[in-house]
Amino acid sequence: MAEPIVVETGNEEETRALGAALGSVAEPGDVLFLQGPFGAGKTTLVQGLARGLGVEDRVTSPSFVIACEYQGRIPLYHIDLYRIEQMDATTLEALAEYFGSDGVCAVEWPDSVPVDLASGAVRITLAATGEDERRLELDAAAPRIREVFEQRSRRSDGVRRRNAARH
Ligand code: ADP
Ligand code: MG
Repeated sequence: MAEPIVVETGNEEETRALGAALGSVAEPGDVLFLQGPFGAGKTTLVQGLARGLGVEDRVTSPSFVIACEYQGRIPLYHIDLYRIEQMDATTLEALAEYFGSDGVCAVEWPDSVPVDLASGAVRITLAATGEDERRLELDAAAPRIREVFEQRSRRSDGVRRRNAARH
């Protein structure tokens, strides 16, 4: 299996920019699982994704519904499964429909998605490493998606090297 690729961002805008780059390479049927605790930057990444897809509406969290739909170059389905421990049949059916649709799905709190539905998903794990620093780790994914992370991963290596040289 391919090695995970890590990108470090130093502010909210860098996380949005990463999301936007993902949005520009996204294809119908892409499902992104965004894992990580509150405040890790999942929704911020989705805001970038929306920007990269050319969505004009503001992306907020789908708090009282399972999914929010946005129109861009291709549709974006922002799905939030927080608080869903046991999936009911209706939710499962809705998810299967979103995952197999003509759009991109970005799923926060995806742990309750059953394996058969989760198998095609791209996993991105986010963590806060400082007040404004976030670490985003990409697991196995299509080359066009890995490329987005690889470019920025090299860039953050460069930043680390420059900082290290200064000390
Ligand atoms: P989640 O959806 O994972 O709960 P949000 O994206 O809603 O997280 O919130 C992330 C919070 O962290 C926002 O308040 C944002 O301004 C802040 N933040 C600070 N630095 C970053 C960064 N590098 N990337 C993303 N968000 C950041
Ligand atoms: Mg969120």
